[in-house]
Amino acid sequence: MTTPPNIVMILSDDHAANAISAYGGSLMRTPNIDRIAADGMRFDAMYCTNALCSPSRASILTGTYSHVTGVRTLSTHLDARQPSFPAMLRDAGYQTWLVGKWHLGHGGVHDPQGFDAWDILEDQGEYWNPELLSAAGRRTVEGYTTTVLTDLALQRIAERDPSRPFCLLLWHKAPHRSWDPDTVHAGLFDGVDLPEPHTLLDDYVGRSRAAREARMRIGRDLGERDLKAPFPPGLTDEDRTHWAYQRYIKDYLRCVASIDDNTGRLLDALDGHGLTADTVVVYSSDQGFFLGEHGWYDKRFMYDESLRMPLLVRYPREVAPGTSSDAIALNVDVAQTFLDLAGAPAHPRMQGRSLRPLLAGTRPDDWRSAMYYRYWEHLDGIHHVPAHYGVRTARHKLVHYYGDGLGVPGASPVASEPEWELFDLVSDPAELTNVYTDPAYDGVRRELSAQLEQLQREVGDEPVATPSSGSGQMA
Ligand code: CA
Repeated sequence: MTTPPNIVMILSDDHAANAISAYGGSLMRTPNIDRIAADGMRFDAMYCTNALCSPSRASILTGTYSHVTGVRTLSTHLDARQPSFPAMLRDAGYQTWLVGKWHLGHGGVHDPQGFDAWDILEDQGEYWNPELLSAAGRRTVEGYTTTVLTDLALQRIAERDPSRPFCLLLWHKAPHRSWDPDTVHAGLFDGVDLPEPHTLLDDYVGRSRAAREARMRIGRDLGERDLKAPFPPGLTDEDRTHWAYQRYIKDYLRCVASIDDNTGRLLDALDGHGLTADTVVVYSSDQGFFLGEHGWYDKRFMYDESLRMPLLVRYPREVAPGTSSDAIALNVDVAQTFLDLAGAPAHPRMQGRSLRPLLAGTRPDDWRSAMYYRYWEHLDGIHHVPAHYGVRTARHKLVHYYGDGLGVPGASPVASEPEWELFDLVSDPAELTNVYTDPAYDGVRRELSAQLEQLQREVGDEPVATPSSGSGQMA
C-alpha cells in the first residue's frame, strides 16, 4: 500500500492562462510553471464559478458554490468553520500549512481553520515588506512578497515531520493590481513593444450594455498608481489605450516573472528533498484576467478571459507527462480532487467532482457537459459590472444580466435593465457577436436556457425573476 501523497498548491491571484507559455500565450516565457505542465497535465477548460478573489478562494477551499459558502462578493468574509479540504486532510493525518493571500477576512471565525500553521497577508497585502498575520500575531518581513512567501513555504517543507504527508498552500498576492514588480525584473521588456490582443480597441457593438458600461478600460480607467506614470498629455483615446496597455502589461508580466522564478525554487526544493515522485503539485489562479482583451483589465465578467483559470497538475504516480484535458473542470472540484488523491472521503456537502479520473487519462461517460456561473456583486462603485449568471458548454455560452444583485459599499443602488447574451464560441471565440436574438440560434437558446435552469436547480441556486426574463434584447 502506498502512502498518501504530499500536496502543494500554488495559487496566484489574477493570473490569466494567456500569460503562461504552457498555454501557448506569446506574451512571455514561464519556464518553471511550464515544468509542471511538461511533467503533468494541463487543463484547457478549467473555469471559476464566480470570477472574483474571495468567492473563488472560498469555493476552492470548501468545494461549494458562492451561495453555499456565503462568500458571494468581496464584502462577505468566510466563516472558516465550514468543511474544507485542508481541515479534512489534517483530520486524515496530514500536516497542513497556509502561506500567503487569504482574503477571506481574519479574526474569530474568519481566521484560517484546519491548518497546523498559517501566515497570511491582511486582505490584499502589499508587494513589498509584507505584514504577516499568524496565530501568534503580526510581524513584518522585509523583502519582495512573492519571494518572502516562497521562503516561508520552503521553510515549512524543510522543517516537516517526514513521517507524515503534508499539504502546503502557497497562495500568492501577485500578479494582482497594482502590479509592482521586483527590482530584479524592473527592466524586463524595456524597449520592447509587446503584442496587443486584436480586441484591444473593442467598440462593444453587438454586445450588452453591461460590456459598454463597465469601467475596466485600460485607456480610461487605470490610474497613475497602476501605470506608475501619468498619461502623457495630448493623446487621442486610441493612443492612450496603446500607451497604457504597454505600461500595464509589462508590469503585470514582470510580477508573473517573479512567480515563475519562485515556482522554480519550490520545484527544485522538492527535487532536493527527494519529494517529487510523491507530491501532487498544482498551479492555478483564483480566476482569469483581461490582458487587454475587449480593452480591459480585471475580471468579474463571464467572458472567457476572466472565467478561465489555469490549472496544471503534476503527480508522477498517476499523471502522464505532457498531457492535457479539455473536460470542463471547476474551482469547486479542487477540494474533492485533493481528498480523493489523499484517500480521504469528501464531505457530503461538497458540490464538485474529483478530477482524478481525468488526471489518469480517462473521462467518465457522465462527465459534465456544461457549467454554471454566477457573479453576484452588482455595479460596485469601481468596476461597474452588473450581476449575472449563465451557462457555458464546450460550444456555447448564455449569460443573463438580471438587473439586480448584491450591493457593496460604494455601490450604485440603481437596478439595471435585464439583458441576455448568447455566444457561439466556435465561430466567435472572442465573444464579439451576441446571437441571442438571431433566429438561427433559437434552438440553441432554448436548449441553453433549459440547461441553465437545470444547473441552477442542481447546485441549489435560484433564478431571479425579472419582467423581461426570457425575452431578451440586443445591445
Ligand atoms: Ca483574484
